[in-house]
Amino acid sequence: MKALVKTKPGFGNLELLDRPIPSPNSNEVKIKVHYAGICGTDVHTYEGHYKVNFPVTLGHEFSGEIVEIGDNVQNFKIGDRVTSETTFYICGECEYCQTKDYNLCNHRKGLGTQQNGGFTKYLVARADSVHTLPDNVSYRAAAMTEPLACAYHAVSKIKVSQGDIAVVMGPGPIGLLVAQVVKSKGATVIITGLDNDQERLDKAKALHLDHVVNIQHNDLKQYVDNITNGYGANIVLECSGAVPAAKQGLDILRKKGAYVQVGIFKDSEIPFDLDKIIQKEIRVVGSRSQKPADWEPSLQLLSSGAVNAETLVTTELDISQWEEGYQHIKGGVGIKVLLRPID
Ligand SMILES: [Zn+2]
Ligand SMILES: [Zn+2]
Repeated sequence: MKALVKTKPGFGNLELLDRPIPSPNSNEVKIKVHYAGICGTDVHTYEGHYKVNFPVTLGHEFSGEIVEIGDNVQNFKIGDRVTSETTFYICGECEYCQTKDYNLCNHRKGLGTQQNGGFTKYLVARADSVHTLPDNVSYRAAAMTEPLACAYHAVSKIKVSQGDIAVVMGPGPIGLLVAQVVKSKGATVIITGLDNDQERLDKAKALHLDHVVNIQHNDLKQYVDNITNGYGANIVLECSGAVPAAKQGLDILRKKGAYVQVGIFKDSEIPFDLDKIIQKEIRVVGSRSQKPADWEPSLQLLSSGAVNAETLVTTELDISQWEEGYQHIKGGVGIKVLLRPID
């Protein structure tokens, strides 16, 4: 079968290779991939900024159907429509594993980074990581379950009350999912972007997010102050990983507000105004990836229609067209790119 394999470190080195079809061991299932999304992480890996277990098939956001089942697997049958958590191996013993915070296990191995992922026709996943799709959730939408689970994880880091003003900074796929999740919890959402995010800001409007603000043409602080009687936002979810956005996020928060860092910064050390955190008694929390408890609620949000993930899919290509997908993402064309397997 054809697979998109990161063969060695450095820029590029992503090759369409013939790989053997895998078979599941006793606690695994084999999944025939329908769609696999290109994530920012795949792009970082392609560019050589992110270390993986070379050679490895990339792609950790996928949907598909079960075509083979390991001997000990009980809960699934052939033909089941599924998606899978990215967790392929965990130590099972550390304190994080005890609480199913697998995203924090030091020994965790993930699909599409340490273990062959979804940019191919078949992959094996541990049955414990696999989730059945609700009937009304399409394969396209389901390929977005992983990023949606990351968004759900970020929102579950804070308490959201009815009527809270939540500012989501950055209208990329994650920002647009975070905004929908926080809105589903009763918040009034302000989502921000720049001139070159126009297509994404238009999508935010189409999704009926409450306020869509281009911060190159509007003073965000003033905007937030206007609708909060000068108090500021209750919640900021920073999804861009841009240093100026992080700075501004602290600025527009009200006293006792909550700040969640979701976007990943280019550099590990960035200037951050700790004094504001003290003076305003702000709560700052980070959100990394997702954990098992985030998946079923995410599938429910897709099923109920509270989150529309499918509308974020703007480009569909096959795995031989990686370069085109990559150029789309780098050029800010569209929002989410899905890849299909080829024979
Ligand atoms: Zn991802
Ligand atoms: Zn562990």
